[in-house]
Amino acid sequence: MPNFAMPNVHLLAHTKIDEKAISEWMGIQDASTDAETLLTMAGRNCYRSFHRPNEATYDDADYLRRTLFQQGHMSIAEHATATLYFTGVSRAFLAELTRHRHLSFSVESQRFIDADNINIVVPPAIRASEDPYVLRNFINAADEAIAAYMIARDELEGLPKKQRNEAARGLLPNCVETRMVVTGNLRAWVETLQKRLTPGADAEMQEVSRLALDALHPTAPSIYEHLKGSAND
Ligand SMILES: Cc1cc2nc3c(=O)[nH]c(=O)nc-3n(C[C@H](O)[C@H](O)[C@H](O)COP(=O)(O)OP(=O)(O)OC[C@H]3O[C@@H](n4cnc5c(N)ncnc54)[C@H](O)[C@@H]3O)c2cc1C
Repeated sequence: MPNFAMPNVHLLAHTKIDEKAISEWMGIQDASTDAETLLTMAGRNCYRSFHRPNEATYDDADYLRRTLFQQGHMSIAEHATATLYFTGVSRAFLAELTRHRHLSFSVESQRFIDADNINIVVPPAIRASEDPYVLRNFINAADEAIAAYMIARDELEGLPKKQRNEAARGLLPNCVETRMVVTGNLRAWVETLQKRLTPGADAEMQEVSRLALDALHPTAPSIYEHLKGSAND
């Protein structure tokens, strides 16, 4: 019987500024994170407005909200990056997230890593079902598919491990767990999450996107706050 995996998203790394270098051009506000300071510097460089002449956008948070979301000057958000580690997500999730072409991926290899003891990710609707047979049927079917994978792999005895695994993995279901390190610039994360937090998106995508938003939020609260509304839909 396979074990279940629940989704988790960990922030591994994010942009760190050189305060001394930035201070030579622009004052740094205590309330701003490193990413917010860097984006503000990038945006203000376009107009040489490092001295923050407009009272309404004096605070970096107000400046960024207006520049990014009202004026659509999104390219400044490409200067900061963040790296997330996704665990307890399915191969179906992987197939959808990799459609976002500005994210960078390092994903567990099914050719190298044997799937004999692989965890499965139960889709939210099956998890939420009050009928116990729904969950049981799902687990049994996944279990059988994993057993068929092991048989196919054993039957190819004589071939190198990578070739046995790559052939047998065709039998693995979409619900098997995968883990991946994903890096994106702030614009790529915002645009990806905007699409994947909507009620029309796949339920696992929505669930994991909410976790990703929570993980990314502290790196640039003034910007990610903008997505919180979609996350609560
Ligand atoms: C609810 C939902 C349902 C979906 N259903 C399906 C489905 O049934 N089948 C399916 O195949 N896909 C489906 N998708 C995936 C969808 O079509 C996109 O591939 C995915 O959302 C990635 O977004 P994106 O293409 O906007 O761009 P990303 O790759 O995230 O890039 C961000 C932005 O960069 C720009 N960009 C990137 N590449 C190009 C380019 N080559 N040319 C011009 N501009 C570019 C665009 O402005 C784009 O919006 C679905 C997505 C969602 C959210």
